[in-house]
Amino acid sequence: MTSNQTNPEVVIQLKGMNKWYGEFHVLKDLDLTVAKGEKIVICGPSGSGKSTMIRCINRLEEHQKGDIIVNGTELQSDLKSIETVRSDVGMCFQHFNLFPHLTVLQNCCLAPIWVKKIPKAEAEATAMKYLERVKIPEQADKYPGQLSGGQQQRVAIARSLCMNPSIMLFDEPTSALDPEMVREVLDVMVELANEGMTMLCVTHEMGFAKQVADRVIFMDRGEIIEENEPVEFFENPQSDRTKLFLSQIL
Ligand code: ADP
Ligand code: MG
Repeated sequence: MTSNQTNPEVVIQLKGMNKWYGEFHVLKDLDLTVAKGEKIVICGPSGSGKSTMIRCINRLEEHQKGDIIVNGTELQSDLKSIETVRSDVGMCFQHFNLFPHLTVLQNCCLAPIWVKKIPKAEAEATAMKYLERVKIPEQADKYPGQLSGGQQQRVAIARSLCMNPSIMLFDEPTSALDPEMVREVLDVMVELANEGMTMLCVTHEMGFAKQVADRVIFMDRGEIIEENEPVEFFENPQSDRTKLFLSQIL
């Protein structure tokens, strides 16, 4: 069992991490160290393995080689390590994955009540606090289908926060939204960043990257090709693959 007792500030560590889908080598020797409170933006072409990497960090996908250590717990196949890691890591996807037959408030309270065994009244109070933070407390009794995409994504963020994670993973949270709704979701993410949340965000929103990221990581074909602080990353990309990618999105 590996641990990070020597450096408590490190909250995520990937060491020589590899994953295959069958024969396909999707993630190749990834090394990444994330400090508490750090904001990292991950970008790269479609199919480069960004989602797979993010999903490995809370074990929605299983890696086969190397280590993933989250808050000192090494992710292994035992349920205990998986549950420990998941209790610290919130996740927000491109498609909001809200339960359509539950109200906004019920969506937010489901896991706290059933997984964390928090009393209903307390779970509801916490949910309302986070719905206020994402600026939609008045939608609490509506169903997801009655909300706009931007509102649904903000509910999804509030729902994650209700589990009190110390790390938030975002996988293209704005890419399924109509353009006029992107800003309202990014604003919530910026606030979360400013409050000190540790965040890994897969996004091509380069304005967001420049505004909040401590580091931008560029992935291509399953590898981390380059990483840098945002200004350097955008103004002075090193690898040809990064230059090509930036020329296509900027
Ligand atoms: P990105 O998020 O950067 O677009 P993904 O992590 O989704 O990339 O996918 C990386 C590669 O792995 C792609 O080639 C994709 O087709 C493949 N892939 C993703 N999920 C699976 C899966 N469940 N089974 C097999 N191949 C997959
Ligand atoms: Mg993806």
